[in-house]
Amino acid sequence: MLEFSEHCKVLKNDTLGRYVTTTRKIFPGEVLLSEGPTLIMPNCSEKRCTNCLRLTSKVCRKCKIFLLCGSCLSHHEFECNFFEKLTCIHPNDIAANMNSYGTLKCLLLNENPNTKHVFEQFYSLESHQEKRRGSKIWSENSKTVVKPIISSGIIPFFGQTKNIDEELIQHICGAIDVNSFEIRAPDNGSMRAIYLKASLLAHQCVANTCISIDDSYQMKIYANCEIEKGDMLTYCYTNPLLSTEERRYSLMIGKYFFCNCARCVDPTELGSHMSSLVCNACPDKGFILHKEKNWSCQKCGFTMTAENVDGILSRSKEEILLAKDDIRKYENLIEKFYKVFHPNHYLIIDLKQNVAALLRTFLMNPICRPGKLVLERKTTLCEDILTVLRIIQPGISRLKAIALYEMFTSYAELNRLRFHENEINEFELLEILKQAETMLREAIRMLLYEPVNTPEGQLTKSMLKELRDLQNDMKMLFN
Ligand SMILES: [Zn+2]
Ligand SMILES: [Zn+2]
Ligand SMILES: [Zn+2]
Ligand SMILES: [Zn+2]
Repeated sequence: MLEFSEHCKVLKNDTLGRYVTTTRKIFPGEVLLSEGPTLIMPNCSEKRCTNCLRLTSKVCRKCKIFLLCGSCLSHHEFECNFFEKLTCIHPNDIAANMNSYGTLKCLLLNENPNTKHVFEQFYSLESHQEKRRGSKIWSENSKTVVKPIISSGIIPFFGQTKNIDEELIQHICGAIDVNSFEIRAPDNGSMRAIYLKASLLAHQCVANTCISIDDSYQMKIYANCEIEKGDMLTYCYTNPLLSTEERRYSLMIGKYFFCNCARCVDPTELGSHMSSLVCNACPDKGFILHKEKNWSCQKCGFTMTAENVDGILSRSKEEILLAKDDIRKYENLIEKFYKVFHPNHYLIIDLKQNVAALLRTFLMNPICRPGKLVLERKTTLCEDILTVLRIIQPGISRLKAIALYEMFTSYAELNRLRFHENEINEFELLEILKQAETMLREAIRMLLYEPVNTPEGQLTKSMLKELRDLQNDMKMLFN
């Protein structure tokens, strides 16, 4: 396992606990941390092989505790041997609750002399025990982790951890929930993993680092912009394409803090207006912004109660759900929402992403002959999504790279079609393809930091090929 770059330093204060800063100016793309996972866990509803992490329901014949698929001969030697030696326990209690495997694996770290220090580091992670006590997640863990582990009869065999009781197990569950990262499973589903060092990074909704994880679960954290000496390293723990209220809610539920970052405290969300509503009361076309408890128009002062706004939002979300995958219904909703929300509102951006994804599937179908309208629409949608991303992810960003690439493909295709239909001449086409080349280059530049063995890494490879093809096309036009 590697460490933080020599230009990073771990510090501690009362508000943040431990956090990471830089000891010199950092440049975009510079790698700040490479780290392997301490623990990988399936999502609680899924049964996965402990060795290869593919879905399975077979149990290891040797230890009778861990799941092991038909293609894997063995798994972690220490873990398997530990349970093989134990007799008269009730493994079924554990096997029926996938949620308990994470805790078991943690306890095993402490039993193994080689990983004892890792357990100590893990155990010192924040678990927010007091905030979780008595909550829904607490009783869920009580049922699916604490009870199965206790009733299986294995506790007396964990000689290195004293007093394994509900309190200790809940602390482990909390440390896992609060600090785990979502990672990609081999079948593209999702799993959770603990990366001890990466979990020291503080949160900001507009962060200065990006995380990428390759297919052997090695994590790399790199700077997405210039970071000044002494600045704190940050990572966004939540979906940046949500509104301030929703981001704060998900951070409160999952990470137990109220975000007061620059984007969260600004009612316009740094000018992106991802939460703003249209003011229908004023002649100046003002926007209704969220300030503390109330919502009010920035121009005429018209106010709305939070209940009122919540009602509009939940009705709108309901309408999106009902329109599921129907492109025409989505487009109608976009038109309808323009009357209520700012064009950058997160629900409109969400709809636009849905429409763009459906158009992409349509365009990829070889029997469809896409008309100019479809290509034009997809180009505009990508442009709108990019407008927002450029504000909330100003540096290197995977989301931005993919939106740019999507825009490039439809824009280039659209104009080739125009050329074939004699709407534009070769000089005009050449100028347009030059613009398209700039988009593609910018997208590639942002994805170059992705490891080769990830879907993004593969995408970068095919983008580089498309860049060469485009350049050849342009040469041909010239001759
Ligand atoms: Zn396997
Ligand atoms: Zn085994
Ligand atoms: Zn924030
Ligand atoms: Zn107004």
